[in-house]
Amino acid sequence: MAVSGRLSTFRLPPLPTIREIIKLFKLQAVKQLSQNFLLDLRLTDKIVRKAGNLTNAYVYEVGPGPGGITRSILNAGIAELLVVEKDSRFIPGLQMLSDAAPGKLRIVHGDVLTFKTERAFPENLKRQWEDDPPNVHIIGNLPFSVSTPLIIKWLENVSHRNGPFAYGRTQMTLTFQKEVAERIVANKGSKQRSRLSIMAQYLCDVQHVLTIPGRAFVPKPEVDVGVVHFTPLTQPKIEQPFKLVEKVVQNAFQFRRKYCYRGLGMLFPEAQRIESTGKLLQLADVDPTLRPTQLSVSHFKSLCDVYRKMCDEDPHLFAYNFREELKHRSEKGRGDKES
Ligand code: SAM
Repeated sequence: MAVSGRLSTFRLPPLPTIREIIKLFKLQAVKQLSQNFLLDLRLTDKIVRKAGNLTNAYVYEVGPGPGGITRSILNAGIAELLVVEKDSRFIPGLQMLSDAAPGKLRIVHGDVLTFKTERAFPENLKRQWEDDPPNVHIIGNLPFSVSTPLIIKWLENVSHRNGPFAYGRTQMTLTFQKEVAERIVANKGSKQRSRLSIMAQYLCDVQHVLTIPGRAFVPKPEVDVGVVHFTPLTQPKIEQPFKLVEKVVQNAFQFRRKYCYRGLGMLFPEAQRIESTGKLLQLADVDPTLRPTQLSVSHFKSLCDVYRKMCDEDPHLFAYNFREELKHRSEKGRGDKES
């Protein structure tokens, strides 16, 4: 009890402001790397509060940069914070924070897309998947070009219960371009409904918890920013391999404005397309004239279950990719013309 009391009352000592840190260490944002910094610590406190109760938590912050969110996390009563930053210019400023919070901040100069989290935190934090989430949290404001591939990678980790989810249902609080945040949480029938909505919602409870205007960042990005909180579900809504779900969802959404049978048909080679698409939709009990945006997660569950059975019956089906067929055909056409 005494220990947890001490941990939760820690506050950073007075430090130079983030603006001063940027000047001191010459940390001008690199536009090509989409670096946009948060300097207002009231705002970074607000983002960190959206992660939930962090008392005695082990936190993994991705892309800390000059350390605004990092400071708010360190002041939130956490046990330990691990940060992974790719740009070496930020390491000395983070080191200064580490000196101000002895034993609390671990700094890794590395890439979040390849950093291995399996052994990043103490073993005793591990929880059974069905239990309450472990006291491990991921928080980050990354460039938009990194946050979308990263969330897809982490959703795959959720489905395999590995990576940061080897500890149980680790919660994530991440920023995205506002439109992407809206797509992640979009419900059936909404204009923003997309591949990301299904991929996120079949595995996680997702909440768009905060919108931050672009003007709060330095330099100001073209767009506003949405903060999304993810909690992995105890039971995924689709119980098929991630790659299979991804394939069905990707195909369904490739002609967003057309009836769903058009995109789903591309799961099958041309010679059997009409027949197999009809079978898929009939067995899954999905109306072929629904638009992809009108399909619910439970429609996708039925489609994935039936497609799985069809793949089990035809071992070549899963490997079929209509784009490769098109490429092959156009290369052949070119070859025929040239010869
Ligand atoms: N979190 C800080 C803030 O809110 O002010 C910085 C935000 S800035 C948009 C993104 C940060 O992520 C930069 O510091 C950048 O160097 C870092 N970053 C970009 N790609 C990364 C990657 N693949 N791995 C680790 N850090 C990365």
